[in-house]
Formats: sequence, structure tokens, C-alpha cells
Amino acid sequence: MGQLIFKGNIIFATAPGELKICAKSHIIVKDGTVEGIYERLPEEYGQEPVKDYGERLILPGFVDLHVHAPQFFQCGLGLDRELLDWLSDCTFPAESRFSDPAYAREAYTLFATEMIRQGTVRACIFATIHKESTGLLFEILREKGIGAFVGKVNMDRNCPGFLKEETEASIRETEELIIQYGGHPLVKPILTPRFAPSCSGKLLAAIGELAEKYNLPVQSHLAENRREV
Ligand SMILES: [Zn+2]
Repeated sequence: MGQLIFKGNIIFATAPGELKICAKSHIIVKDGTVEGIYERLPEEYGQEPVKDYGERLILPGFVDLHVHAPQFFQCGLGLDRELLDWLSDCTFPAESRFSDPAYAREAYTLFATEMIRQGTVRACIFATIHKESTGLLFEILREKGIGAFVGKVNMDRNCPGFLKEETEASIRETEELIIQYGGHPLVKPILTPRFAPSCSGKLLAAIGELAEKYNLPVQSHLAENRREV
């Protein structure tokens, strides 16, 4: 990766609620890691090229702790509905399109490109139930250099037939993705049972075993409205 030097108004948080502002300063990045921030560039870097952003701000990248990549294309739609109606009317039909890997490749490329444009460089991501499309999401994020946890959604009950997994297949495909895409330093698998209503006890137990076997984190949803309970 080598070395990069940027100049501008650098802002970052030293602790929750505390911002440090380094006006018209230099930030030196070596092999992807910040080496230091200096008001005056140290002498030994005097001959190195500096990318000068003038009066602009230089911020750390944003981290999105919960995002559904396939829902990027329905942003703001159906928000007059409660969760369960929104899922059945808007979201499940939109997610079913990811059974087509060609569509997934195009959609996830747009999603990752927009993430970078918005300054989001790390994320915990829900994909869909589809193994091949989720694999493509791993690959696209790797190519873009975005750090992420990526989860193939598990769902074997209380959902439309076109998104309902067979329990055994859901477990098997989840493990296959873990084996295929685990071990990358930046883009890693995360177990992703959608939420309790859409996962049988057998499926949840198997996901727990996978979490233990591969020492993986788990993401899901807690109850978000009364009709779920
Ligand atoms: Zn969610």
C-alpha cells in the first residue's frame, strides 16, 4: 500500500463525545494505518508528495452497524406500513430478485459504490437467503476494500414460499459460505438468522452450533413491534 500524506482540517473523536480538531494539519498513512497527525510535516517527509485538500475536512470513515444491502433499492418506500406488512408488501418481493446472481452482481456493485461515496467504509451487512448472491457480495466488498461482516439470511418459516428455505439446506449453505469466505482480513462472515419468527428452533440451534464451531458473531433483530410477539 505504501505511504500517503494528506493535508486539510482533520477531525476525529478521541473518546465518545470528544472531538479533536487539527486545523491545516498533515495526516501520514503507512500501509493503511495512520502513522500520525502533524501540524508541521516532520522534516524526513519534506520531499514526499502531499495531497492538499485546502480548507476541506478530513474525517475517519463512517461505520454502519446495521444495513440490509438488498434493501438499498427500496430506501424510503412503504414506511407508512408496520414492519410485518412492510416485509410482505415491499421487502420480501425485493429480496426475491436476488435469486438471480446477475441482478445481485449489478445491485451489490451499486450498493458498495454508494457506500464509499457516502464515506461508509465499515459495516455489518444483512444479505438475503441466496447463497450465490451473498457470495458475490463478499467478493464485491473485497474488491472495493470495504471492511464488513456479511451474513446470508436464514429463514425457514413465517415467510412467503419464494423466500422460505428448507432447514437442512439453510444450515448447509450457511456453513459452505463460512468455509468459502472466512479467513479474509477485511470481509468476514456473520451468522444472520433474520429474526425469531422466521427461524425454527432447529435452525436457531444449528446456527448457535455454527457460531461456536467457527467462533463467529451473530446478528439478528429483536422484537420491533407488538404483532411480532
Ligand atoms: Zn434490519
